[in-house]
Amino acid sequence: MRVGIVALQGDVSEHLESFQKALRDLARPGEAVPIRRREEVAGCGAIAIPGGESTTISRLMKSRGITEEIQAAHRRGTPILGTCAGLILLARTITDELGRPKKQGMTSEVYPLGLMDIEVDRNAFGRQRESFEAPLQIHGLPGEPFPAVFIRAPAIQRTGPGVAVLGRHENRIVAARQGNLLGLAFHPELTGDHRLHRYFLEMTRSAAKR
Ligand code: GLN
Repeated sequence: MRVGIVALQGDVSEHLESFQKALRDLARPGEAVPIRRREEVAGCGAIAIPGGESTTISRLMKSRGITEEIQAAHRRGTPILGTCAGLILLARTITDELGRPKKQGMTSEVYPLGLMDIEVDRNAFGRQRESFEAPLQIHGLPGEPFPAVFIRAPAIQRTGPGVAVLGRHENRIVAARQGNLLGLAFHPELTGDHRLHRYFLEMTRSAAKR
């Protein structure tokens, strides 16, 4: 299976490496590849959007036609992971600095994919602390708490009925799943712990069965 990482800006190489290791751990044949052009999206059985700068990533995704390709992949049932800036891009609604919701397309800054029924505050933690690490209890992830690295992290403010909350930090939602979409407010690619990459790859197995 080919796992495509949107490779326009942000933590791309870390995700590529984490997915290579997770594929190996699970003894799954496949490879992790960068997505830089729209033609590269359709061949991927799973897609990850990394952390970075959501304004930059979304602008480049839109101008290169990758936004539409990912929306089409989602309609075909392809699992999609968004971490940090990637989580912001999965959202249906992004709130502005004052907490006012901005619907998809209404903000000139970020063009979210609008796939996940969540409302995201872009810099929920960043206003207090630029970055920190915290142990996180994640639903469905066996073993010890996950060492979550937060960098100018967003948080999920509101979830729709189809969204399962998987983890919270300081009572804010930082991990959630809706069908084949997995959204994380932190950076699992920056730790040596690949459990969440493996968890996401397991989602691709059930997606293939359906
Ligand atoms: N809050 C940042 C943004 O809006 C995301 C930060 C990150 O991905 N580390 O793009």
